[in-house]
Amino acid sequence: MASYDAVIIGGGNLGLWTAHQLAKRGLKRIAVLERYWLAFGATTRSAGMVRQQGGSETAIKLGKWSRNLYISLADELGLDSGFVETGYFVIAETEQEKAGFLELVKLRQQCGVENEWVDAAEGRKLLPFFNWDTFLGGTYTANDGYVHPPIIGRNITFAALKTGAVAAFEYCPAESIERYGSGYKVRTPKGDFESDRVIDAGGPRGARKVGAMLDIEVPVSAARHEVVTYPVLNGDFPARWPMFFVLGKGYYVRPEEQGALLGLSNPDEKVDRSERFQIGFDWNYFESMRPQLEAEFPAIKGQPICRSWAGSIDFTPDHLPIIDQPLPGFYVLAAGGHGMMWGPGLGMKMAELIDTGTVSDLPENEISLARFSQNLERHDLIALPFPTD
Ligand SMILES: Cc1cc2nc3c(=O)[nH]c(=O)nc-3n(C[C@H](O)[C@H](O)[C@H](O)COP(=O)(O)OP(=O)(O)OC[C@H]3O[C@@H](n4cnc5c(N)ncnc54)[C@H](O)[C@@H]3O)c2cc1C
Repeated sequence: MASYDAVIIGGGNLGLWTAHQLAKRGLKRIAVLERYWLAFGATTRSAGMVRQQGGSETAIKLGKWSRNLYISLADELGLDSGFVETGYFVIAETEQEKAGFLELVKLRQQCGVENEWVDAAEGRKLLPFFNWDTFLGGTYTANDGYVHPPIIGRNITFAALKTGAVAAFEYCPAESIERYGSGYKVRTPKGDFESDRVIDAGGPRGARKVGAMLDIEVPVSAARHEVVTYPVLNGDFPARWPMFFVLGKGYYVRPEEQGALLGLSNPDEKVDRSERFQIGFDWNYFESMRPQLEAEFPAIKGQPICRSWAGSIDFTPDHLPIIDQPLPGFYVLAAGGHGMMWGPGLGMKMAELIDTGTVSDLPENEISLARFSQNLERHDLIALPFPTD
């Protein structure tokens, strides 16, 4: 049986960043077990929006750290980071939303993120392609942007393997975990893996099930989330223009080549407990939304759609992440549906927890598993309309 300093279950953005960060902290033998192939899951299906404009301290800090880590990793590797800086508006429609957003601007500034409230009149100048008529304004961060998920998958895979400390095992599902000596034995069709440290980074389709292997309840659920791209837009667009998220309506838009990418979630989408990845695009919902989308972003009106896809997005009850150790040597890491904007930061913090036993700089009641069995005091306000679990 092979023995490792750490065994990570799940080779998505979270698992790979954890492997990389553990290697940086000096662990010498790290195994990443992936059921299919690296970055197979939500990671490559994502839209890649990277927002530092979170709705809580943890969300804001993870966004800030992750943006910087994507860029610094690429510098280290001498490769394209896959990060494109565009600026980002989170748009408010109601006075209640606006009041909440104004509070968040203060919190973001305290966390070292440049963020401001922009009224609709000013918004019209900065984002003239959006129809601001029924909106009050939005919060704006100039150095937010998006990543190209395949480039992110490539960079973090390359970086982790390049350390020489990480071995990746593809088509290697963890089938069970049992106590073994001072640690655990993970059974797979490719043999058993033994370690004092096992990390559950199974994502939307695995985190809950991997936790259950040790009777730990991991409240990570999956729901369908959908994306379309338009190759061409009405109007003269510059090469880069600000992304925007219409929070109340659950859709966001960013540049994509000479067109745009639009992601949306149906608020009536149900939790999906199946094992399958949700890849069927819901055209009925999209068509029902289309008149509204075209009225608010007229650049897409009448334009053909180039690509459409759906994927299983992960979420937690409060839309915040999990970075915890529910059993000695067994760790849980989950992104609450924000694994592209938070993945590097989450990997960094999980590595810190494994190495030092604590997570610094983040409030425990926004990252622990225990919070789910208590009254959830906080949640990330800036999130898609995830189903109620
Ligand atoms: C359409 C769509 C758009 C999105 N857009 C954004 C966005 O713009 N910004 C953003 O921040 N987030 C976005 N997300 C969410 C983001 O993609 C996820 O939060 C993130 O990818 C989660 O990373 P992960 O590593 O936890 O999960 P995954 O990428 O799913 O990786 C988990 C891996 O674990 C493997 N696994 C599971 N069980 C086992 C097992 N038993 N043994 C071995 N391996 C196992 C799976 O095969 C999988 O490869 C989007 C998601 C979707 C679906």
